[in-house]
Amino acid sequence: MVEEVYKNIWKIEVPLPKSPLKFLNAYVIVGDKKNLLIDTGFNRQECKDALSQGLEKIGISMDNTDIFVTHLHSDHSGLVSDFIKKGRRVYCSKKDALDINTLRDFNSWKNKFIGAEKLGFPENLDEYFDRHPGFKFNNTHDIEFSYVEDAEIIQIGEYSLQCIFTPGHTKGIMCLYEKNHRLLFSGDHILERITPNISVWSMENNALNDYINSLEKIKKLNVDKVFPSHRKLFDHCHRRIDELLDHHRERIVEVEEILSKKSLQSPYEIASQMKWDIKFTNWDDLPHVQRWFATGEAMAHLVYLYNLRKISLSDNKYYEFSNFY
Ligand SMILES: [Zn+2]
Repeated sequence: MVEEVYKNIWKIEVPLPKSPLKFLNAYVIVGDKKNLLIDTGFNRQECKDALSQGLEKIGISMDNTDIFVTHLHSDHSGLVSDFIKKGRRVYCSKKDALDINTLRDFNSWKNKFIGAEKLGFPENLDEYFDRHPGFKFNNTHDIEFSYVEDAEIIQIGEYSLQCIFTPGHTKGIMCLYEKNHRLLFSGDHILERITPNISVWSMENNALNDYINSLEKIKKLNVDKVFPSHRKLFDHCHRRIDELLDHHRERIVEVEEILSKKSLQSPYEIASQMKWDIKFTNWDDLPHVQRWFATGEAMAHLVYLYNLRKISLSDNKYYEFSNFY
């Protein structure tokens, strides 16, 4: 589906087969001399077709269209190499851009998860990596990115799009903010019905702390309309931020309660006892990918609590946490 959702701003729904996210919203901002495409979809034929048909329906050519990649995940960055034309720019934060060019290479892909073997997964981790959509569906390589910094402006037609650095969901994720029209292209930083995934694989990355700070940063802006990367557009930006902050506060309490019942538990063991918004009766029967994301999310809350000195860590074969310090 392709529609003009605001003056000269179009939304192309790019299907994400087998993903609970269902669609990626790729946005196109049409200017007088050049246009901007925000995000692309997975490297899958269904995504390529939807994006090509969408651009055709809007009536623009990639010959005068730049691409802005909100963050490294393959449902956003997977098709950049397929769509970018010579001489056009691909904007992204430096942090995520450096990762995107290596996503197709299995070994560098694996290296991103150094430390993950200590989270307590029972299987060999290669089984998780092979099946991960981030590895399977990315074709972006050898791109000379135009790195964007926090507060930098990209001008497209009547819109002055300010890059806002909002780490948490990834280390380099950026939103775009249009001050005069009070618009926010929120990427995966703020979604309406879905809680953005905040996952970490090592003690070094306190992504939940970054995410909470990035939510507070957006809360300071005047926003009338949010253009998220998945699901519906919405108006209640500040209310949604409060809901997301509440969600993580509840998750923190949940993790503390699980630890109060038993000391020395691995992130995997803790994740198996948390409530997840997916149907399952037996944790061990869940597909690899779902256990992988759930454990990463549990780990993000554990690292956050550890840095607040609320829980302790025993660094043995696995990371094991206890609810005292
Ligand atoms: Zn994402």
